[in-house]
Amino acid sequence: MVFNPNAHSRWVSYTTDDIAELSYDPASTTHIPFRASLNHFHRNWAHIHSSRPQLFLRPQSLEELQFIIKLAGKCRKKVTVVGSSHSPNALTCTPGWMVSLDDFQDVLKVNEDSNEITVQAGIRLYQIHRVLEGLGWAMPNLGTISEQSISGAISTASHGSSLHHGLISDDITALTILLSNGDHIKCFRDGTTEPKLFDEEDGLSLFRAALVSLGALGIITSVTFKAQKSFNLAWTQSLHPHTEIITHWNSRIFGVAEYERVWWYPYTGKALHWSATPTDLPPTPAPAKWFDTTIGYHLNQIMLLATVYIPSLTPLAEKAMFYMQYGRQLHSSPDGITTGVSTSVDGMSMNCLYRQYVNEWSIPLHQGPEFLHRLQSWLNGKPYDIHKIPFDNTTSKVYAHSPIEVRPSFPAQGNRSAELRPYLDTHQKDVPSLYINATIFRPYGKDIPGRGKLYEVFEWLMKEYGGKPHWAKNWSTMSRRDFRSIYGQELEKWLEVRRRVDGEGVFLNDFVKEYLEDGEDEELEEAESMFEKKEGAETVVETAAKGKWKGKQPMRRLSEESDITMTGSSASFHGSLAGSYEHLRASEAEMSFLEVDRDSPPPFAVL
Ligand SMILES: Cc1cc2nc3c(=O)[nH]c(=O)nc-3n(C[C@H](O)[C@H](O)[C@H](O)COP(=O)(O)OP(=O)(O)OC[C@H]3O[C@@H](n4cnc5c(N)ncnc54)[C@H](O)[C@@H]3O)c2cc1C
Repeated sequence: MVFNPNAHSRWVSYTTDDIAELSYDPASTTHIPFRASLNHFHRNWAHIHSSRPQLFLRPQSLEELQFIIKLAGKCRKKVTVVGSSHSPNALTCTPGWMVSLDDFQDVLKVNEDSNEITVQAGIRLYQIHRVLEGLGWAMPNLGTISEQSISGAISTASHGSSLHHGLISDDITALTILLSNGDHIKCFRDGTTEPKLFDEEDGLSLFRAALVSLGALGIITSVTFKAQKSFNLAWTQSLHPHTEIITHWNSRIFGVAEYERVWWYPYTGKALHWSATPTDLPPTPAPAKWFDTTIGYHLNQIMLLATVYIPSLTPLAEKAMFYMQYGRQLHSSPDGITTGVSTSVDGMSMNCLYRQYVNEWSIPLHQGPEFLHRLQSWLNGKPYDIHKIPFDNTTSKVYAHSPIEVRPSFPAQGNRSAELRPYLDTHQKDVPSLYINATIFRPYGKDIPGRGKLYEVFEWLMKEYGGKPHWAKNWSTMSRRDFRSIYGQELEKWLEVRRRVDGEGVFLNDFVKEYLEDGEDEELEEAESMFEKKEGAETVVETAAKGKWKGKQPMRRLSEESDITMTGSSASFHGSLAGSYEHLRASEAEMSFLEVDRDSPPPFAVL
């Protein structure tokens, strides 16, 4: 074997001398490229988190990927794969090696008989839409944007807004994953694998773990998913008082059309209900949106910016923005009803406007009315007895931004079996879920004061309803213990698979280490105390060489907040349910949802 002693010599100081030997490919009698760069500054889309990976790698072939992993194992480096960096939290931040699959964006196979398409893992959803359009196909389920890579979208349990579809990963029928020992395994939904490494049960475990992997199992290199015949969406949009949304929750709001969502505007007393059904009708011209005009886009942002300095202006600014957007509609009909037909992609997507914090959790769908009523009452500064939220918001007020996104989700009938769901599925078990997302914009990159407090209350309330946080979003009060109690055995199984396929911990990223892996709680506390609590400033993860983490997802505790105080007892709302309903009936009689019997079976058990 002849070695070129200078092969990759430039990288020796960042790796080891092993780089020359490990990169040698006897088949081609040359060295496998090591496409690394230094000084890469990584920043997520929201510009909230950033990091300086020691090396940024952009391989172009499976051999290069295998070489990177082998070398990382030898050098005891951690590997973090990045998609399109749209995760709002610090999941993709690393001081170690960052691998981008931006050169893995091809379509590998199209199966016209089964409507399945196999794509490389770095392809973006919008690129997939273009390919599918050419085939007369479409993705059945989407979130609000299509900038994500397919592997990033599935790895964090991204979901859409439909009681007929669950996670985007529910449509995945097979995926190929490269493990830290160099094995490249294709896993199928039925539990088989190629090559057959484990018995069938192990294959199924790997598939269930890899569907929502948080990047911590290995590198997904390709994904096969089932598309459907392309379709348009006939949609109806209407504006309703909050009370109407809550009153007609089961009869007109959710469970009626295939795709549905509500945008809740806290300071206007109104919410926008959107519902859509597949149709063969051609698309109609898209309605003009105020925010899509240059003036609208900036005026809205300027108003939000004003609230950075004078938070009490928020309700006024929110009302003004609402009427600029929907005033004309409301003028033409009391419900502001509009209808139209869009392509499936346009119908399911929305303009997310500005960089933002997002805090999204799922709760059981049938508990949505109660949740929204309590949150709204708290935002309105109502007394404790109304909402039973033990944080005072009557004096130093905390404000939310609009809209609060309210989206139902339930896996398709054939996809509901608990034995087949991804271990880290964020849906509620066995019942339809409601994902509620509190967005806080960052106008012109500025942070709104009070976000930490709002999120603390929002999360407290979510926990009252057994809420499960979205893996990629900006929650801040979750601990390892919380995740253990939410996911129980499912988390244990996911960790078991993770340890089995990545014994050396090459993919054990800091997020998983901190929130999911077993460890002493003292260790966790030590980790928490290392956080820099910087509201209004980006947190930057420094390289390991410079020392410990400098910043991560901001973690705040009530005791560290100055002007938000506990009121009443922290006894849960459920504990004193009967009494609180009495009071609520008397004080807010118009909220007819209060008649909801919380012990009755969930209204959407069967679709
Ligand atoms: C404006 C906006 C709108 C959004 N809308 C929605 C929505 O409607 N519904 C919803 O559920 N979510 C939504 N999200 C969240 C988003 O879908 C997720 O954060 C998604 O993970 C982003 O994909 P990405 O390609 O940017 O992945 P990244 O953020 O780059 O990575 C996410 C995770 O995937 C891992 N990963 C990426 N590629 C691979 C690979 N090849 N192999 C193994 N692991 C990999 C990474 O290591 C990381 O852990 C939204 C986010 C934004 C910013």
